[in-house]
Amino acid sequence: LNEKKEAERSREQYLKVISVYQRVYLITPHTGYADDALLAIAHLYEAIHDYEDATRTLTFLIREYPSTPFKDTAEKDLNRLRGVPLQKTIAVDNIRYWEAQNSVRVVVDLGGEIHFNQGEAKGPDRVFIDIFPARLNTALNGKQWPVKSGLLQQIRVGQYEPSTVRVVLDVGTVGHVTSFTLRDPDRLIIDVLGQEVVADASPRGRGRSDSRQGGPGEGLTATAAEPAKAATAIKTPDRSADAGPSPAASQRPLPEGEAKPITPAKAPNSGTRSLVRSLGLKLSRVVIDAGHGGYDTGSIGPAGYTEKELVLDVAERLRGLVQMELGAEVVMTRSDDTFVSLESRTAIANQQEADLFISIHANSSRMRAARGVETYFLNFTSSPEALETASRENAASERSIHELQDLVKRIMLRDKLDESRELARHIQHAMAARKGAGTDRGVKQAPFVVLIGANMPSILAEICFISNPQEEKVVKTTANRQAIAEALFEGVRSYAESLSGTKTAGTQDKIN
Ligand SMILES: [Zn+2]
Repeated sequence: LNEKKEAERSREQYLKVISVYQRVYLITPHTGYADDALLAIAHLYEAIHDYEDATRTLTFLIREYPSTPFKDTAEKDLNRLRGVPLQKTIAVDNIRYWEAQNSVRVVVDLGGEIHFNQGEAKGPDRVFIDIFPARLNTALNGKQWPVKSGLLQQIRVGQYEPSTVRVVLDVGTVGHVTSFTLRDPDRLIIDVLGQEVVADASPRGRGRSDSRQGGPGEGLTATAAEPAKAATAIKTPDRSADAGPSPAASQRPLPEGEAKPITPAKAPNSGTRSLVRSLGLKLSRVVIDAGHGGYDTGSIGPAGYTEKELVLDVAERLRGLVQMELGAEVVMTRSDDTFVSLESRTAIANQQEADLFISIHANSSRMRAARGVETYFLNFTSSPEALETASRENAASERSIHELQDLVKRIMLRDKLDESRELARHIQHAMAARKGAGTDRGVKQAPFVVLIGANMPSILAEICFISNPQEEKVVKTTANRQAIAEALFEGVRSYAESLSGTKTAGTQDKIN
């Protein structure tokens, strides 16, 4: 393969050969082989981009063996090495990935800000991403990760040029590959989407439950569509992704056996059962994403109430409602005070083949009086206010936001734009209908990282302004948090009804 250049061969093998030559030199420092060995060592160091050791070895050769026939060669090499620009390179530290039915998300962990180029090559089909100025963590040199996805056979990485690291994806029938960078910490996200996902983004292509049937995920669907069983199991996502650098191989779906049993809060009544039957097939699995967590507190209210604490509580309440009232399975992106990266939240949703993705947040404004509720779906925006919200929720710089805007412009048709807008409309309507909800700030659009690449309708709800002293006080009350969760649930339920064309008692009067 073209990109499998010398430099991509295992660094370890080079070091082994170097040590053999070093032994030759040490055994016979006064014979005619010593200078041969030193020159060979210098060239090997250069081949693995260890210019410092190459320079040191050549300098030693010229000084200790002034009459060597290799003097000219060594001096020429030394001059060439001095010409290598001592550019500051960024470390490429780790590669992680999540495999889903029809998408794979690859994350390259970086030691700083980089530039990158994406390209394609044929025979065999592959997509490569060149990262520069960058140097590969030696432990990763020439490493390969076999991926058992129809989209992607394997991920390879190597030091392509002295300051360029190349990530190669050996792809199958790929619909689209998107890459973008995120900061704090710096990382490059590469999304590989299947053709089905791309085609499915048409306004008519709704309902993953339908597309799943008969496919390879049939076994999973059968379990998820059986509401009585599904309601007793919660899948906890693999959180090891965010516990620091970890080998990509650990990013595997959890075995079924790890599902935790829960105690039902109350038995579903017969009315709920009929609702479950009518809606169960449309919404079998819902991902609830409590924003922030761990060291990322999110916004903090004037009295010290943190967004991460508030939204986790509301998310847990919503989980109970979705399980008990809708009989759908719920996947939480976090169920305690842990940091979970934005890109892994969406990846979890795709991996779990969820039908909905609901991200819960609390708003913040420099204006203390700002209040009310708003719901976002992923799109680019021209509203400075929406951009400000996205910038805060992405924990990203303004520059990154503009890059994300461009990215979202390119990928918008591939995400479930129409369905997400529709879901946002239902959620916003229900949230604004809650007594004491404050201003109905409406459905908005912005480039939220947590929504990028989701294969299912996905929204981000700003449930209140935690920066407003009155609203902070209100949401500190358990009853009010329960009311917010119930409003979010009403939104989910009315959206589910719109999918199935079913109306159920108890929702009509509230929504219409
Ligand atoms: Zn937030």
